[in-house]
Amino acid sequence: MAKLFGSSGVRGLANVDLTPELACKVGLAVAAHAKAKLALVAKDTRVSGSMLEDALVSSLLSSGTDVFLAGMIPTPTLAYATKSLGADVGFMLTASHNPPQYNGIKVFRSDSLSYTDEDQDAVEKNVVQGTFRLADWRSLGKTTQMDASQVYLEMAVKAATGLCKPWRVVVDPGCGATFNIAPELLKAVGCKVTSLNAQPDGFFPARKSEPTAESLQDLANVVKALRADVGIAFDGDGDRIAFVDEKGVFVNFDRSLAAYSAYALQGNKGGTVVTNVEASMCVETMVHAQGGKVIRTRVGDIYVSEALKQSGAIFGGEPCGAWVHPKHHYCPDGPLSAVLMLKALEEENKTLSQFISAVPEYVTKRENIVCKNEQKYKIVEKIGDALKIAFPGYLDFSTVDGVRLALKDGWLLVRASGTEPLIRLTAEGESLAVANNITLKTTKLIKNQIEAEIK
Ligand code: MG
Repeated sequence: MAKLFGSSGVRGLANVDLTPELACKVGLAVAAHAKAKLALVAKDTRVSGSMLEDALVSSLLSSGTDVFLAGMIPTPTLAYATKSLGADVGFMLTASHNPPQYNGIKVFRSDSLSYTDEDQDAVEKNVVQGTFRLADWRSLGKTTQMDASQVYLEMAVKAATGLCKPWRVVVDPGCGATFNIAPELLKAVGCKVTSLNAQPDGFFPARKSEPTAESLQDLANVVKALRADVGIAFDGDGDRIAFVDEKGVFVNFDRSLAAYSAYALQGNKGGTVVTNVEASMCVETMVHAQGGKVIRTRVGDIYVSEALKQSGAIFGGEPCGAWVHPKHHYCPDGPLSAVLMLKALEEENKTLSQFISAVPEYVTKRENIVCKNEQKYKIVEKIGDALKIAFPGYLDFSTVDGVRLALKDGWLLVRASGTEPLIRLTAEGESLAVANNITLKTTKLIKNQIEAEIK
C-alpha cells in the first residue's frame, strides 16, 4: 500500500484519497498506538472538515477515547492545547496551505511535538494490520466541547509581555483557521488591528491559502493605503507566517527568518538556531555574527521541531514561514510569531524594513534536471564525490537531505524530487556571478552522471 503519511501527516483530495473511512481507520490506529484515554480534535475552515471530523471522532469514541472538540482553531493552538489540557493525543484536520479540495490529518503527541517518522510508521502498521482497539459498550468515549483558544491566548499574551506600542497591524488570515484567534491576540496585546479576509470560508475565495508575494498583493496594498506599521498573513492552518513591511513590500522569507534568528540569539547571548537544508546562508551570516551556531535538518517542520527538542536550541524555522519557539511549544506557530516579531521590533526600536535590512541579500538559482524515477536517487547518492572534487575548497558536506555542499561564497543542494522524474538543484551565491557559476558547474556534473549511468 502507498505510504499513508507524508512529512506533514495524512494528506489528499477530500472524499477521494482522504475519505471518512480512512479518517476512521487513522483514528482507531492512533488510539491504539497512543493508548489514548483523552484526545483533542480540531479543524481548519475547509468544507470537508466536518465530514472528516465526525468520522474521526466516531472512531475515537469507539476505541474508548474521550474527545475534547475544539472546533475551528489553528494547528499551533491545537498542539499547544493538547499539551496544556493534558490530552494524550491531538488531531488537526487540515491540508495546511494546499488548495481547498484537499484535506489532511496532522497528529500531535502530548508534548505538542507532531508525530515523528517512528510514530507514523507504527500507526501505518496498525492501519494495514487492522490493529484496532474496540471498547465495550459500557466504556465508549464521550465528547465535550472545549474552548482551547483560551489557554493558547493566555500563553501568547504572556509571551508578548513588554509590548507597549499600539502597533498598527493589518492581518490577513486568508479565510483560514486563524480567522478568529489572530485578530483577537493582536488586539489583546494592544495593537490597532485591521482585518482582511477574516471570515471563515473553506473555499478560500479571497486568496490562495499559501502566503506568497503574489497571493498577498491585497494585504500589501492595504498596508500601504492605511500607512500601517506591518502586514501579517498566515497559511490555511496558521502554522506559517508571512510579513509585509511598512512600505507595503512583501518580506523575503529567508531574510525574516535570519533577522529574527539574530534577535533571538542576542537576547540569549548566543546559542543554537535550527533550520532546514533549503534555507539561505544569510541565516548563518546573521547567527554567526551573534556568536551562535546553526543546525540544518531535512525539509519538514517535524525535523526542525525534533532537532530543537534534542539540541535545546532557542529558535528554529523553515523558509516557508514555519517558525518554532521551543520555550512555549514545539509546533510551528504563526500567531505567536506575529506578536514575538512585534516585540522584537519594539525592543530594537526599528520598523520592519529596518529590522530586515541588516540581513544580506544573496542570489538563489533553481534548476530542474530531468532524470528517470528509477535513477534519480542513485544519481544523488553518487554525485557527492564528484561535487567534492569539483569544489575542493568546500566548507561543509552534508547528506541529511539529498547532498548539500557549503562553500566560502555560496552553497548548493541536490535532491531527488519526491513526486516527479527530476533532480532539483538549488544554488546560492554572494553574487549573481557566483550563483551562476555553481549552477552551471553542478548541472553539468549531474548530466554527466546521468549519461554515465545510461551507458
Ligand atoms: Mg500549515
